[in-house]
Amino acid sequence: MAATSLPGLTSATPEPRLTDSHGRVIHDLRVSITDRCNYKCVYCRTGEVGAQYPELAIDEYLRLIGLFVGLGITKVRLTGGEPLLRRGLVDLVKELRAWRTLWGEPLDLALTTNGHLLEGLAEPLKAAGLNRVTVSMDAVDAGTFERITRIPGSFAAVLKGVSAAKAAGLTPLKINCVLLRGFNDDQIEGFARFARKEDVVVRFIEFMPLEEDRLWTPEIVVPLKEIVERLGRVLPLVEIAPREASETARRYTFSDGVGEIGIIAPVTQAFCGACSRVRMTSDGKIRTCLFSQVEHDLYGRLRAGEDDEELRAYILRTIEGKEARHHIGEPGFLKPSRSMVHIGG
Ligand code: SAM
Repeated sequence: MAATSLPGLTSATPEPRLTDSHGRVIHDLRVSITDRCNYKCVYCRTGEVGAQYPELAIDEYLRLIGLFVGLGITKVRLTGGEPLLRRGLVDLVKELRAWRTLWGEPLDLALTTNGHLLEGLAEPLKAAGLNRVTVSMDAVDAGTFERITRIPGSFAAVLKGVSAAKAAGLTPLKINCVLLRGFNDDQIEGFARFARKEDVVVRFIEFMPLEEDRLWTPEIVVPLKEIVERLGRVLPLVEIAPREASETARRYTFSDGVGEIGIIAPVTQAFCGACSRVRMTSDGKIRTCLFSQVEHDLYGRLRAGEDDEELRAYILRTIEGKEARHHIGEPGFLKPSRSMVHIGG
């Protein structure tokens, strides 16, 4: 990707330094700030395993995120576990809001949440400077939703969270739905109506083998092609041109221009070639791919007393070795040692 495609970059501003050996520029950092979660979604958790990894202090996250921003990260997404469970979240956002990227722009600050606690936190998060929020919601009817989350009352709580986020101006609001055949694939058409009525962007995600259990099979994945066909029966879809090459979702609107649908298809239409992401786990390990077999202990080095220059050199080396692509569905594919809730989605 050309360096000039980064926001705010002119010939007078520095070149991004976070590039991998495949020529990709990394500008998107996803940070898990806890691996605790208040939901037990059937496709993610067994319901028996709790938090497994330590959390860092908020100022430790800030120190580590600062190293990445100093190397060219322009977008930070906070996630978990469930990030709204994390005490100090609002202060973390407030601090990040005051920072500038290498190119003098404010950071693009986003958060992914199950929305359960959003009713009370949407306003404070917006006031602290959060730009956008993505709410995970896997059904538009209460029965299916709560069979998936395994938490009574969760559907009503999330709907209130969605309303509060819209009222606070955390927009455009994105709703992420992971589709699993036999669990919630009957929700596709309902989500199309929901997107149009609620003025939210609904994004369907193909299920990846990152669960605690052993649920994943190729057959359980609802592929992009099928989702597009079924949505088209509600109203014809029109594809929207991507804003940037590293966009994960293929975007569509309906033929009358009302409602936006995104489809994230990491299984059937992998987008690794344009990947711009790197992750940091709640215990301060760098993961260069969701499916990495190795983790890179940035926090361990900080604790061992390495200075900023040494830590930045470590980040540069680590990113350089980012995997070319994942191998979902191929013979010999290995699930990573951590599941999604412990990595940070
Ligand atoms: N608790 C927050 C939430 O629910 O959004 C953030 C963490 S959660 C792990 C992030 C996202 O990953 C959610 O949208 C969830 O549905 C998605 N997810 C979890 N397991 C997944 C899998 N195996 N394949 C695809 N997406 C998955």
